[in-house]
Amino acid sequence: MKPIAGIIGGGVVGAHIALALASRFSVFLIEKNQKLGQETSTRNSGVLHAGIYYPQNSFKARFCVEGNALSREFFLKYDIPFKSTGKYIIARNTDEEAELELLFENATRNGVPTMQRLSLKKFKNEFPFINACAAIFSGSTGILDAGEYMRALSALLDRANVEVLKCCTARRITDGPIIETDRGDLEVDVAINAAGLYADDIAKSSGIHEYEIIPLKGDYLTTRSISLEVPIYPVPNRAHGTLGIHLTPTFSSEVLIGPTEVPGVQKNDYDIRTPVGVFYNSLASMIETSFISNIKLHEGYSGNRPRAYCNGKRCDDFIILENPAEVIHLIGIESPGLTSAPAIARYVESLLR
Ligand SMILES: Cc1cc2nc3c(=O)[nH]c(=O)nc-3n(C[C@H](O)[C@H](O)[C@H](O)COP(=O)(O)OP(=O)(O)OC[C@H]3O[C@@H](n4cnc5c(N)ncnc54)[C@H](O)[C@@H]3O)c2cc1C
Repeated sequence: MKPIAGIIGGGVVGAHIALALASRFSVFLIEKNQKLGQETSTRNSGVLHAGIYYPQNSFKARFCVEGNALSREFFLKYDIPFKSTGKYIIARNTDEEAELELLFENATRNGVPTMQRLSLKKFKNEFPFINACAAIFSGSTGILDAGEYMRALSALLDRANVEVLKCCTARRITDGPIIETDRGDLEVDVAINAAGLYADDIAKSSGIHEYEIIPLKGDYLTTRSISLEVPIYPVPNRAHGTLGIHLTPTFSSEVLIGPTEVPGVQKNDYDIRTPVGVFYNSLASMIETSFISNIKLHEGYSGNRPRAYCNGKRCDDFIILENPAEVIHLIGIESPGLTSAPAIARYVESLLR
């Protein structure tokens, strides 16, 4: 008989971990919602990141670069919608130009493939409506359809005989390990906490008290007034530690504008709370003035970044803890978690060998 693995959280990370463990373990995937991936995994920009931004040797850098390659193979193998669009990052003034150069060097250190410095003339020819004084191009960035991705993962979990317990809320992990849920206790050989925004609550229930997740909301609006095939990002917003409000094409004719940064919300607050003026101001900083008046904005959606703090100090990296060895906690899996998921899963599987 195979040993039993219990995974709390059926987002993209928990689903990939379940698939990675399915050949060695009888896997139970516990998800409180009716479907997999209804929280952060489908409330994001849908961008397969390249690994440009993160400090060298961090989990984020390592798993993003590896996850980008693994995700591409996965999408191809299982026919999951993906477009290898590349992405532009623009500078709007000389300070940002210096920042852009630092990003380029960081990407090179992280082993990000196909980065290019661009001639401004070429960029301006292609994007006359964008306000930029310099731009770099990342060839390994792409866009995916997160809803389709989660549906495909669900089908693969069925095929791999993973027991998916939907509408089942895990309460705590106790010694054994035992995962206590609102539908009874599950005695397991290994327990994995991949509960996203609630990973701190599960960690606390098993005696790890120093981590707190304080959500940082990101709202999106959409527009059909801009035609765009390639995401365009500003340099990151250092004050908030986010990538800044960007323009991202989707699989429809809509372009996403966002995400914003709204602190002080509840974990389950998915209402759009950013005043529309914030979106227009942000567009005004990226788009030539003459184009702005033609842009009509529509309601999009909202996602909450699972920002982790350790004893009050912000954690810059993903936290992966084995405590004790048969209980693994994944805390603060914010961006680039969608990209990193298959690499995180591979790492977690290696910890259990
Ligand atoms: C605004 C925004 C934009 C982003 N953009 C990108 C991007 O473009 N590219 C990228 O790579 N990353 C991006 N990310 C990050 C990415 O979306 C996340 O890192 C990733 O989705 C995390 O997946 P997860 O499975 O850890 O979490 P989740 O998707 O939150 O999954 C956790 C699951 O656990 C379940 N759960 C929680 N508690 C319990 C419990 N007690 N019992 C049972 N089930 C429970 C939840 O219902 C949920 O389904 C973005 C995030 C945000 C917020």
